[in-house]
Amino acid sequence: MSAPGGAPVYGIPVLILKEGTQRTTGRDALRANIMAARILAEVLRTSLGPRGLDKMLVDSFGDITVTNDGATIVKEMEVQHPAAKLLVEVAKAQDAEVGDGTTTAVVLAGTLLEKAEALLDQNIHPTIIIEGYKKALAKALEEIDKAAIKVDPKDKEILSKIARSALISKHIGSGPTMNRITELCVEAALTVAEPQPNGTYKLDVGDVKIEKKKGESLVDTILVKGIVLDKEVVHPGMPKRVEKAKIVLLDCPLEVEKPEITAKINITSPEQIKRFLEEETKLLKEMVDKIASVGANVVICQKGIDDVAQHFLAKKGILAVRRVKRSDMEKLEKATGGKIVSSIRDLTEKDLGYAELVEERKVGTDKMVFIEGCKNPRSVTILLRGANDMELDEAERSVHDALSAIRNIMKEPKIVSGGGAIEIELAMRLREHSKQFKGKEQMAIEKFAEALEEIPMILAETAGLDPMDAVVKLRTLHSKGHLHAGVNVLEGKIEEDMTKLNVIDPALVKKQVLKSATEAATAILKIDDIIAAAPPKKEKKKKEEEEFEKFKYY
Ligand code: ADP
Ligand code: MG
Repeated sequence: MSAPGGAPVYGIPVLILKEGTQRTTGRDALRANIMAARILAEVLRTSLGPRGLDKMLVDSFGDITVTNDGATIVKEMEVQHPAAKLLVEVAKAQDAEVGDGTTTAVVLAGTLLEKAEALLDQNIHPTIIIEGYKKALAKALEEIDKAAIKVDPKDKEILSKIARSALISKHIGSGPTMNRITELCVEAALTVAEPQPNGTYKLDVGDVKIEKKKGESLVDTILVKGIVLDKEVVHPGMPKRVEKAKIVLLDCPLEVEKPEITAKINITSPEQIKRFLEEETKLLKEMVDKIASVGANVVICQKGIDDVAQHFLAKKGILAVRRVKRSDMEKLEKATGGKIVSSIRDLTEKDLGYAELVEERKVGTDKMVFIEGCKNPRSVTILLRGANDMELDEAERSVHDALSAIRNIMKEPKIVSGGGAIEIELAMRLREHSKQFKGKEQMAIEKFAEALEEIPMILAETAGLDPMDAVVKLRTLHSKGHLHAGVNVLEGKIEEDMTKLNVIDPALVKKQVLKSATEAATAILKIDDIIAAAPPKKEKKKKEEEEFEKFKYY
């Protein structure tokens, strides 16, 4: 590491960087970055697969998260090092893109860097390694497409298998709980997926609302063909149950709007006050009358509902809910077929949504409003039940993963076998492919293949097998044409056909894993200079805080 500042030029020091800036260059920079990224990958390594272990993360407020979900681990870890942060970004991108394969992506990126280090030791320039990795990636993506099995995107059985495969490495990944969750995810996905012209289906994971409520257990989780709101009916005089509901979706308040500026009104007699109040009541009554006149019997409002308006609504037998989240309003539009209305004056019968039943029910210790039995709903709710918040949070992440897996298959109906099978197969094909290249580039492609084999190695390790032994056996099987041979982690043995065990992954996820990992590794390999500004001085910070305190109250 060299100090910043500058070298004396003709006796005059030339300062380019700010005082206190840390600069690391060349191989030192590269090594430091690789080290940081590898450490992060090392942390995630043991969380891979169905026998992966959990991490307990405690944030600065003392809140605890227990998870083995790669994306969550890296998000909660508050990573400092810039290169490691790059990997975190990759994990997030992977999560956003396909919702699964984050652990694999980070571990693979770390392994690619570890292998690259070996090449750097042999004085191979980073750009050659990067070139080799890119060639290997292109070939691997091509080979995934060739090795993948085509499936029917609406086949319940395939979708269940895919969902189960995504859930198996999670806490809920066993017995009746998993079956229940799988069944609900598939049902939910099939309900809201939209057919596309090219024969695939588009599933927006956001169209499946996940609502959590403490109490009972995960097996009691239900799917509601409609929306569940964590709200109560606003007024005790209103019905708690409305059949054949005609629903108004409002995003304006059912209140008489107060002027934004403070207005002063001089009232000189009690009469005037009375008239004033009467006028307000009249306005509110008109609003409610308008709602009733279009035939509505349920009002869902994004904003507030005035007490007086509540009273009038109750008198007309209309059920109302207020202060509903915008995202829920949009989901209600999709579920009930109604339209969000911003002004009561413009409300017409056409804007109403429909549901067989709107009902307030007690769930656990709280009340919730169920809007269900919607015709052809484009949005549904999975109501998760569980003993505590931690369990519910992990269940939510699991459902998200399962839905993402289903979405991926619907988008690209192709699967590959899991348990490291596809990785071994790709490694084999890449080694063959590398023979076309010469010297250093060939070495880089071979290293890429080696890195891929790390995935079955880790899976073997978590299954209590000897990793090297397992890979050698798998290589032999694959060379004999057993395309789907992989590690059966749950039983701790090598399996000739992972598809028989239903250990399968969407091809889309595997492709994204390879892309993300290679992108991260090559990005880090390209860096040969780290210039880090000095952290703000403590004294200065303290002074700023004091200033802030002073001005806070103005
Ligand atoms: P990621 O965050 O990368 O999805 P997971 O913890 O979900 O990490 O592990 C995924 C890996 O575990 C995949 O390679 C998948 O094929 C493998 N896997 C899942 N179930 C099994 C199983 N029963 N036996 C062997 N491997 C499995
Ligand atoms: Mg997974």
